[in-house]
Amino acid sequence: MFDDLKGKRVLITGSTQGIGLAAVEAFARAGAKVAMNGRRIPADLEATLARLNGLGGEVVFLQADVSDSAACGTLVEAFVERFGGIDVLINNAGGLVARKPLPEIDDAFFDAVTDLNSRSALMVTKHALPHLKAAASQNGTTSSVISVGSVAGYTGGGPGAGLYGAAKAWLHNIQKNWVAFHTKDGIRFNMVSPGTFDTAFHADKDEDTKARIGSGFPMGRFGRPEECAPTFLFFASHTCSGYITGQVLDVNGGQYMP
Ligand code: NAD
Repeated sequence: MFDDLKGKRVLITGSTQGIGLAAVEAFARAGAKVAMNGRRIPADLEATLARLNGLGGEVVFLQADVSDSAACGTLVEAFVERFGGIDVLINNAGGLVARKPLPEIDDAFFDAVTDLNSRSALMVTKHALPHLKAAASQNGTTSSVISVGSVAGYTGGGPGAGLYGAAKAWLHNIQKNWVAFHTKDGIRFNMVSPGTFDTAFHADKDEDTKARIGSGFPMGRFGRPEECAPTFLFFASHTCSGYITGQVLDVNGGQYMP
């Protein structure tokens, strides 16, 4: 079904663990050329790359802190140097940074949350744009930008996560502008919006707490990263979604229905 992903060049930000890593694995299985990105070099990098490169594609690691605008440009350059272009960009890097209620928010925290969740996606997309346009024109199909939103982008976020929710809502919104002005370049923009997934994002909760929270969702549990991964394949594949752009796909077990 995802045959056209074979050999596609896929850059996934923030993908050394969790939802991003599951996406790297899924694209590798589909035969894609993938860059896994992280702010730091993972301790088990060699073993991880050996495992990922046994799945059928080609996986490299590119270190970059995408909350830094200059590093976003360098990351795109390094990717293009390695693979000769970009077909698919996934803006996955993101996180809470910390939980801080309104009275505790200062400029430094505001910058940290928005740099990681909003500025990162904006800057990587900006630098990738000419390469995505060139790839679409060379292939005669479409290139794809997939950003990762959040249920918090609709609901406003849980305790101390107001800035995070707002940063994700900002992404949900700016995508509409990218669709309006860059569809002519052969680029599709879609968003995957996870609900509550069992990753390091929820490391502040013990297993009982996660089970209790999950039991309140229609699916009765948290999502698993591998349950989000196929949605990235769908939006990346021109065969599957060549006429779909500007959408937000909620992968949330029924937790929230916009
Ligand atoms: P995670 O903490 O397991 O993974 C985050 C990844 O981002 C890691 O690989 C980390 O190395 C990387 N990263 C963090 N800061 C970075 C930086 N400055 N530069 C480069 N990489 C950086 O979290 P996750 O749950 O897998 O989250 C993935 C995405 O999904 C995030 O955008 C998150 O906001 C979103 N999301 C997660 C949930 C959830 O419940 N887990 C819900 C909604 C949205």
